[in-house]
Amino acid sequence: MASVSRLVYAALLALAIASLASVSPARAQFLRDAEAEKFFRDSSNPIFAAAGLDPASVNIYLLNVPSINAFVTGGQNIFIHTGLILAADDVNEFIGVMAHETCHIACGHRIRTNAALGNLSATSIISLVLGAAAIAAGAGDAGLALLLGGQQVARGQFLAYSRGQEGEADIAGASYLTEVGHSATGLIGFFEKLRDQEILAQIRQDPYVRTHPLNRDRIARLQEVAAESPHYRKPPDPALNERFRRVQAKLFGYLNNAQATLRRYPPSDTSVYARYARVYAYHRALEWKYALAEADALIAMEPGNPYFYEIKGQVLFESGQIDDAIEVLRQAVIRAPREPLIITALGQALISKEDPVATAEARPLLERATTLDRSNTFAWFNLARAYSLEGDNARANLATAERFYSGGSAGQALLYAQRAVDTFRPGSPEWIRAQDILVIARQYAGQRRRR
Ligand SMILES: [Zn+2]
Repeated sequence: MASVSRLVYAALLALAIASLASVSPARAQFLRDAEAEKFFRDSSNPIFAAAGLDPASVNIYLLNVPSINAFVTGGQNIFIHTGLILAADDVNEFIGVMAHETCHIACGHRIRTNAALGNLSATSIISLVLGAAAIAAGAGDAGLALLLGGQQVARGQFLAYSRGQEGEADIAGASYLTEVGHSATGLIGFFEKLRDQEILAQIRQDPYVRTHPLNRDRIARLQEVAAESPHYRKPPDPALNERFRRVQAKLFGYLNNAQATLRRYPPSDTSVYARYARVYAYHRALEWKYALAEADALIAMEPGNPYFYEIKGQVLFESGQIDDAIEVLRQAVIRAPREPLIITALGQALISKEDPVATAEARPLLERATTLDRSNTFAWFNLARAYSLEGDNARANLATAERFYSGGSAGQALLYAQRAVDTFRPGSPEWIRAQDILVIARQYAGQRRRR
């Protein structure tokens, strides 16, 4: 597992799918990144609110899939392909798509028929939905509801909306954008880009085109509505756009080989996002010295930015400079004390020392990280290690059960939850939690067997 990478893979999610991989040439991986997730929230929450949704109840997931797509499933879950982020010209294109997808949730659209999911097999969606269940963890019922949502997905009831609903999502999306002060030209631009793909053979189209048939009328109608907005000619918000570019550069550097990244972001480009992309390029090329130099340049530009310390700490950690990594990651946590992914990075570095003092510092950090984000598979993994280093096998078992549960591996979750049930005092909070996992994982495992 690419546990060392800055963007933490919840690779276990992907592993859970292997059994039904027939339609799935590539495994979808969930990407986690503190900065990207914060950007998604900050840019999309106002849109959710404008649509009358509770932003806290909408989950956003980034999938490592190169095709252009975004879709809604399992209730209030929005999935975004990395391909969409990389293909967007500016933040308004991204925000426009989010506004459109938001209506599919808020307008109560029922999904009509089966449709191709691109690189995602139905089972991978179920795994994702099970992973999503962990977000609601603690609440067994909510987890179960999401799980059953996954079952519907498996029967193929997803993704294709009627033309009428697509049109409605365009218009409602444009109205949310107007309400929050953005122009809908981004959505139009994005659609125009995709329209060219419609003449391609299906296999070469991005999934978004297949599930969102675009025609001249639809775009023209959106254009009309968009032009009525007082924000029609307003350029993208500069601060949000900068954050979008950073996320884009980060993803580009993370997903492409070093040569490709250096071609697109040559060393002569000293912008923040170019440097950001190059940290990843040098990192991939194992050019630690260059990677650190870029990270230091970023920190010099914005000494208060936690993500720059985070990336520097990660580079140090992966190049084996553990003590320096810990120091720098502490700086990151000071700047972002409630960011579970950053806290986890520090916890991981501390745990790797396998020394009692470092473990004693790591354990409460990792407990905090898992409290803030119960779906953080990697934090559970490290927390289980911390407990086990401290000889607390009962808690190690429960944390391992949480790890597999949040990663969608029902069988393993069952095994460890059973061990936890056997070791904790009946009726204790840990015992109850282990029981919850047991019940949900058992149901999930049973359904998979029946299939
Ligand atoms: Zn749509």
